[in-house]
Formats: sequence, C-alpha cells, structure tokens
Amino acid sequence: MDLGIAGKRAIVCAASRGLGRGCAMALAREGVAVTITARGAEALERTAEEIRVATGVSVTAVAGDITTEAGRAAALAACPEPDILVNNAGGPPPGDFRQWGREDWIKALDANMLTPIALIRAVIDPMIARRFGRIVNITSASVKSPIPTLGMSNGARAGLTGFVAGLARQVARHNVVINNILPGPFLTDRLRSTAEEAARAAGRPVDEVIAERARANPAGRVGDPAEFGFACAFLCSAHAGFIVGQNLLIDGGGFNSSMG
Ligand code: NAP
Repeated sequence: MDLGIAGKRAIVCAASRGLGRGCAMALAREGVAVTITARGAEALERTAEEIRVATGVSVTAVAGDITTEAGRAAALAACPEPDILVNNAGGPPPGDFRQWGREDWIKALDANMLTPIALIRAVIDPMIARRFGRIVNITSASVKSPIPTLGMSNGARAGLTGFVAGLARQVARHNVVINNILPGPFLTDRLRSTAEEAARAAGRPVDEVIAERARANPAGRVGDPAEFGFACAFLCSAHAGFIVGQNLLIDGGGFNSSMG
C-alpha cells in the first residue's frame, strides 16, 4: 500500500532509539524527509545515518532536549513547517507519589504533556493552511490502565490525552488529524531499564523478568519498535484523514477488555 506521503516532511521527537526511531525509520521508508531529535548527539547521528542508508531520504539530526524551549526551537528551525509531527520524549521515573514534589511533577508535565502541546501549537496553523497535517503523540498503555509505580506517567499523559481529544475535533475539517498511540511493552532500552529495576528488587536476572513479561502477554512476546513504527506511519498517511482523536493501544492484547 502506498501511504501517499512521499515528499512530506516530518519531525520525529526523541528518535535516536526505541519507539521514536521505529517511527522515523517507517516514515523514511515511505519517502518522508525526517528531522529527528534526541539529547545524545552521537547516537542520534548514528541513527540518522542508518536511516539514510536504509531509505535514501534526507535525514536531519538535531541534538537537544525536546522538553526545553531551546530544544524545541532547534527542531523547528531545522524543519519549520512539518507536515507530520511525532511527539515523544522519555517517560517519567517510577516511584511512590509521596516522594515526588512539585519540581518532579513539573518535569513530568513538561516532558509528557506541555512539550507535545507546545510543538502542536507551533506547527498546526501552517498545517491547517496547507490542508494537510498528521500528528501522532506517543503516550502509553498506562493512560488506559494505570501502572501503579508510574503515577507521574499516568497523570501527565492523561492530561495530554484530554487536551488532544478536544483539539483533534477542532482541526479535523482541515485534514489535520491528531491521534495518540499507546504502547504496551516494546523491547526498547526503556523497557529494559524498568525490567532491570524489577529484577534488582526481586533478586532475579533481567532476561528472566523480560521473558516472564513476554509469556504473560496474549501475543506471547513483547513488541518490536519497528512494528510500532509501521502503525505510526499509517496514522501519518494520506489515508488516515478520517481517523480523528483516537487512542490506538498496541499492546499484544495485554489490556483485557471486550471492546476498545
Ligand atoms: P527509549 O528506548 O529509552 O528511547 C528514548 C528515546 O528518546 C531516545 O532516543 C532518547 O535519546 C530520547 N529522549 C529521551 N528524553 C529526551 C528528551 N528530553 N529530549 C529529546 N530526546 C529524548 O524509550 P522508548 O521505550 O522508545 O519510549 C518512548 C516513550 O514511550 C517514553 O515516553 C516511554 O515512557 C513510552 N513508553 C514506552 C513503552 C515501552 O515498552 N517501550 C511502554 C509504554 C510507554 P537521549 O537519551 O539521547 O535523549
């Protein structure tokens, strides 16, 4: 299927590794020129080169912290009027909410709610003027089914979800669509580091903890960031203009429900 987006431009945030990288690669395979960001310049440049070699498209690497004004300004300077925006950033740390003060919460809100909103604000009017825009926010399965140790993630991402639900319906008539993808367990560094903590606490090998998580999932495995990327590319495609304000859970069936 031709996704109909060859020649479009995308900003994919937090994309040197993991899910962001999967999205950038999938978009690039469709002929989209991608601007990718991450804090670590070296890994980011390596990923940019891998995507160039795999796809032949133009890849611009912008090193910076996307949760800061400066990081966002740098990404937007490299790609001022993207047709596609994939919002992503690191997730907040786990813990007990009694230990989190205001600064911790502001950091989580900055990363997982206010940064995506700031980027949407910066790019949406030109999208409306061009009558094409695709915005995907990478949130988390925790929005649907809260993870007890990830209270800040549960809260901040739910805030973004509520905001997006309203905005998506205000801009859809201009062929600008905003959707969220909710990852369940995908085999990335993030999953590995949360598994490492669980393994340490239980005094067990990390691979055993990951294998156990995989077995517990209805699909019998954890997700591959590349397959996450394909789903993202479809939501960014020319054919996705009637998919509005949705929350696509990709979790191998881990969320036990008869509907949705
Ligand atoms: P990951 O493998 O740790 O990769 C995170 C990527 O984001 C890296 O490229 C990292 O590069 C970049 N990054 C992190 N903070 C950034 C910042 N402030 N500014 C710019 N770039 C930043 O993580 P992932 O598993 O792909 O997760 C992506 C998002 O999905 C996270 O919010 C995570 O909580 C959420 N999620 C993941 C899963 C899962 O199973 N993997 C499940 C649910 C939700 P630098 O470190 O160099 O900046």
